[in-house]
This record gives sequence, structure tokens and C-alpha cells, in this order.
Amino acid sequence: EESYDEECDYLFKAVLIGDSAVGKSNLLSRFSRDEFRLDSKPTIGVDFAYRNVRVGDKTIKAQIWDTAGQERFRAITSSYYRGALGALLIYDITRRITFKNIEKWLSELRGFSSPDTVVVLVGNKSDLGQSREVEEEEGKTLAESEGLYFLETSALENQNVEEAFLSMIGRIHEVLT
Ligand code: GDP
Ligand code: MG
Repeated sequence: EESYDEECDYLFKAVLIGDSAVGKSNLLSRFSRDEFRLDSKPTIGVDFAYRNVRVGDKTIKAQIWDTAGQERFRAITSSYYRGALGALLIYDITRRITFKNIEKWLSELRGFSSPDTVVVLVGNKSDLGQSREVEEEEGKTLAESEGLYFLETSALENQNVEEAFLSMIGRIHEVLT
């Protein structure tokens, strides 16, 4: 029922970043369409999705950009980041390397975006606790030291996905108004 032209008070751009296969595209499809794919392809062919969100008496159209696989080659360009007011910085709690690489993604993000950009650190795949390589406490500590928000999510089980996107969108709204 959400048409492309639906009336909105604000249009926000936000970006998803993080290593390949951490679950960026599934977090976005869960948030925008309530869909999850076990066999998701690295390239999904679309670069962004929209969802309208009510904050107080305002309607915000959140335009969320997803990489179409460029992150594999660390070839994300400045245009991807341009104008982004928020970012979800995502790692996979079952692969420590994806957590280590957060520092690289964060410095790239900071190089390309404004200092006001709202950043939420997301440890995805919390449903896979038995294969966990990164403790929740480590995510929390990194977020505190970098001044980020932090959540663990599961796109598969739809845990904390709304909270991750909505906390970012709500915070952007606060920064702008
Ligand atoms: P992207 O490369 O970062 O966009 O990652 P994808 O969204 O394509 O997901 C990569 C793989 O991880 C796919 O096989 C997904 O089904 C799987 N995946 C994504 N999110 C979750 C999650 O929360 N839990 C589990 N168990 N698997 C997930
Ligand atoms: Mg993807």
C-alpha cells in the first residue's frame, strides 16, 4: 500500500555497509518487505528500498541503500555514501573477521560522510549462538568507544531488525529537527 509517491514530510537516505554475506540484503528485505532468503544471491539487482516510518506526527520516507555486491571488491564509491544521514554498520557474529573489518568500514564511512551521520553497529545472525565468535560485550565495547549505537539482530528470526532501523531513523529525525 506504500506507493512510491506517497506523501511524506522527509526523505532520508541511509546506507548498509559491512563485509560480504553478513546479512545486509536480508536485513533490508526483512525491514522493507518482511522477507528473508536462505539462498540469497550476492547481487540482488536493486540498489535501494524504501519504507515509510511514522515518527511523532511526521512521515519519513527512509531510502535505504544496499550494495549490489561491490563490497566484495571493496569498491564502494563515494556516490554510495553521498548524502547519507545514517548507516547500519553490519558484521556477522559467527565470523570474527567481519567484526575486525568494522574498523575499516567505519573509517571509509567517516571519510565519505558528514560527522552528523548516525551510525548503528549491528551484530547480525544472533540466531546462530552456537557458532558465535564475537561476544555481545565486544560489540558493545566497540560501539561505546566509537560513539555508535549497538544491537544484535537476526534477519532470519526477525529479532531486533525493526529496532535497528527505527533507532537509526528516529535518531536522524532528532538530529535534523
Ligand atoms: P550480504 O552479502 O551482506 O547482503 O548478505 P545476505 O543478506 O546476502 O546474506 C548472506 C547469507 O547469510 C545468506 O545465506 C542469508 O540467508 C544468511 N543470513 C542473513 N541474515 C541471517 C541471519 O540473521 N541468520 C542466519 N542464520 N542467516 C542469515
Ligand atoms: Mg547483499
